[in-house]
Amino acid sequence: MPRALRTLVLVAAAAFLFLPFVTQNPYYVHSVACKVCIYVILVAGLDLVVGYSGDVSVGHAGLYAAGAYTAAILVTKAHWPFLPAALAAIAMGALFGLLLGVPALRLSGPYLAVSTIAFGLIVQTVVNEAEKLTEGSLGIQNIPKLTFGRWNFEGNNLYYLVYPLMLLSLLAVHRVATSYWGRAFEALKESSIAAECSGISRYRYKLSVFVLSAALAGLAGALFIHIDKYVGPTTFSLQLSILFLIALIFGGTRSLLGNVLGCLVVVVLPDVFNRFADYQLMTFGALLLFTLYVLPGGLAGLLRRALPARATAHTTEEAGPDGSETGIRVRKEDGADADAGDLLATERLTIAFGGLVAVNGLDLVIRRGEVHALIGPNGSGKSTTVNLLTGVYRPTSGRVVFGGRPFQNASPFAVSRSGIARTFQNVALFGDMTVLENVLVGLHHTFHGGLLDVLFRTPRAKREEKDARSRALSLLAFVGLDSLAPERARNLPYGKQRLLEIARALAQDPRLVVLDEPAAGLTSGEIAAVDGLIVKLKARGLAVLLIEHHMDLVMSVSDTVTVLDFGEKIATGIPAEIQKDDRVINAYLGTDAHAMAADA
Ligand code: ADP
Ligand code: MG
Repeated sequence: MPRALRTLVLVAAAAFLFLPFVTQNPYYVHSVACKVCIYVILVAGLDLVVGYSGDVSVGHAGLYAAGAYTAAILVTKAHWPFLPAALAAIAMGALFGLLLGVPALRLSGPYLAVSTIAFGLIVQTVVNEAEKLTEGSLGIQNIPKLTFGRWNFEGNNLYYLVYPLMLLSLLAVHRVATSYWGRAFEALKESSIAAECSGISRYRYKLSVFVLSAALAGLAGALFIHIDKYVGPTTFSLQLSILFLIALIFGGTRSLLGNVLGCLVVVVLPDVFNRFADYQLMTFGALLLFTLYVLPGGLAGLLRRALPARATAHTTEEAGPDGSETGIRVRKEDGADADAGDLLATERLTIAFGGLVAVNGLDLVIRRGEVHALIGPNGSGKSTTVNLLTGVYRPTSGRVVFGGRPFQNASPFAVSRSGIARTFQNVALFGDMTVLENVLVGLHHTFHGGLLDVLFRTPRAKREEKDARSRALSLLAFVGLDSLAPERARNLPYGKQRLLEIARALAQDPRLVVLDEPAAGLTSGEIAAVDGLIVKLKARGLAVLLIEHHMDLVMSVSDTVTVLDFGEKIATGIPAEIQKDDRVINAYLGTDAHAMAADA
């Protein structure tokens, strides 16, 4: 955030605190300002889902309802005090978030959005029908006074409860978003396959983003019942869910200030124009369209552009390379399978896409520490093999055994964690993230701190972040990109993007690195650099599976070459043998290579 903007925000936040001294009008303080604070708590949580994780939820009114009704029922029927009721509301919100998050794992884009709409509608219907608990359409009315020992949060005093809670919620969202969790959300948003292959569990993070967001919605619900001392089903309509989204988008996603501004607008605007209440929906619709067309980044984006920016800080100033020369660490093998048998073996590995058998009965053996090249004409099944080895595709039959253990329905995340890292034939970086952050995503497995470490920025969380940053710099230095650490990945020239992908793969402490055409599109100087890199990796004990069309590179670095044609292995052996193999020459190498081999 630019410094001018930060100051402005601090001043505004402080001024806001004194609002009840400026005006005693209960309408402004109690109804408007408290409502803004409560909406901000919810919208900041919604931002985690929409802004950071890139999913759309149109069901947050349902989560808000879950919190509100849980708290209302507990304080009226069970006579619980405010605090335990609010905690229960947060827990209930989180539980409902889990329910909402489960489809997020299977669906995406419009289908996910529609499933959240359905969720919101179901909650509203249940609230209406479960009359014994919720009083149905009448709503729950006799919400008791909100007191904390001697403190009384009735009337305008409610503001002194919701305002600090809003600041704490914003702080919590900020901390999550700027931690390794936030990086995981963002990586999954940009490319979920690349994120999974870099060791991030889509399952874990998609669920946790919904749960966190829903917990905040639950808190907002528990506070909301104290504004009118009433809660009824009509409040939690689909329109309210849409209103939250409008507040988020108009204010600007991924911005705390945007969350506050957006909520201010959606709460205050209808009051200002209350004579035109009939046109309220239309006004909000127009606001949304206006934002989408004219104000990308919302109000916060506009302010950011208008105010002088702080000179872009070098993100890496606090950490230097970790001194270990390369930052490369090879994962230790468990006692049982260490040094026994081959590193990787596929057994009759087969995959068919409809009638096309892309890989057919492949037996591939990769020994520990060797450079193994997989070559063959375009469309012969090389990339498909990589996808099978890394859990991106499931084999139709056959299996992969790695380090003595068969993969059973392994996800790309599990494969990465067991020690296979890869690059992609079509470079799959996280383009909006910096070069350094891309490598930090690969180092995700080095973070063990939980949510509490993230929220409280414990010494452990700080240490893990610092260690990861210095290791990331060492890895970048190893591939020659350290000077570009703060640059956005998408701005790198193509050859450097390929090198960055290799650094991200090495960050995962793999035992086997799979490089899918690392030299494609590179200049001859860059190809020589890749050659040098592979030699260094081998010297450190890593095994490399190299898919490549540049035969000089393949023949110079490989210990073993396997040749595919139409999905089948037609030869395997040392480079010199492969160059002389008639089937290989006919299928792929052609007579030039024959001549080359004859010369040698
Ligand atoms: P290579 O990497 O050796 O050039 P690929 O492994 O990318 O070849 O492709 C092998 C064959 O499998 C091609 O005919 C390709 O069209 C097909 N193929 C790969 N992935 C899919 C998929 N997801 N769906 C259908 N066909 C696929
Ligand atoms: Mg390919």
